[in-house]
Amino acid sequence: MFNSLSDRLTATFKNLRGKGRLSEADIDGTAREIRRALLDADVAVPVVRQFIAAVKERALGEDLSKALNPAQQVVKIVNEELVNILGGKTRNLEFAKTPPTVIMLAGLQGAGKTTLAGKLSKWLKDQGHTPLLVACDLQRPNAVTQLQVNGQRAGVPVFAPHPGVQSEHEEATGDPVKVALDGVAEAKQKLHDVVIIDTAGRLGVDEVLMTQARDIRNAVQADEVLFVIDAMIGQDAVTTAQAFNEGVNFTGVVLTKLDGDARGGAALSVASVTGKPVMFSSTGEGLKDFEVFHPDRMASRILD
Ligand code: GDP
Repeated sequence: MFNSLSDRLTATFKNLRGKGRLSEADIDGTAREIRRALLDADVAVPVVRQFIAAVKERALGEDLSKALNPAQQVVKIVNEELVNILGGKTRNLEFAKTPPTVIMLAGLQGAGKTTLAGKLSKWLKDQGHTPLLVACDLQRPNAVTQLQVNGQRAGVPVFAPHPGVQSEHEEATGDPVKVALDGVAEAKQKLHDVVIIDTAGRLGVDEVLMTQARDIRNAVQADEVLFVIDAMIGQDAVTTAQAFNEGVNFTGVVLTKLDGDARGGAALSVASVTGKPVMFSSTGEGLKDFEVFHPDRMASRILD
């Protein structure tokens, strides 16, 4: 992902190489190129607008470092502004003072929540935590079984008192809020220090889904609510993120499917549009295809 954006930005910077001093026209031209590259990569329009304004202002007005040539100055500014739109600093999980820490996953169906639950639990376990996975997606066929399989792979127990829906023709029954509460009680009793709650997603944002997610969040008083978003869904990423931010007031974002070849700019806009940091990224179906998200590393990768 981001190869095309990366190529376009690199080509723009190349045009500045060898220039002794940048005129206002040079900066305008460069800003225009960057703007086009970002828009073509699907970065959300308001994010692009803000980005370009910041780059122009700094390139024209800043007391530029003497150690860098003009092309390097622009790269530096673009790099720093990219880091900004990606949420600035790396944001780590915040653990509750009194365990268990409750982490809830929310997002559309197919975003990669159940897969992420397995990865996140393995990552936490490798750091010495004792997570418990809780199966509250009672809606998607076989979601509970899939979580059990992922838990087994990760070597993490799964609390799944309700089998959930087994086929597309079945109506969802069972109360996900109760399962979540019972899961947290089980974690307390068995001294798990982290609970990861997998919740149901729909194909599109809807009120029933949002109310259910909100009810779970409130009932268990989640410490972290991670909004999981498929980076391949393009422009919809931004509107979906806004709806979930209003609906469940998530605390962080997880970008999945960054191994895909979509343009990805919309996913890059999510942090900026919602004001919530990207905390993790996922780059495949395997347990290990998972990383803490570092805005500075992602910006450097894009500008490499
Ligand atoms: P959920 O409905 O949100 O729980 O989504 P799932 O976890 O079931 O994931 C939906 C599909 O996406 C599954 O086939 C996963 O194997 C796949 N998937 C999840 N994360 C990634 C990823 O980072 N990269 C790729 N290529 N596939 C992924």
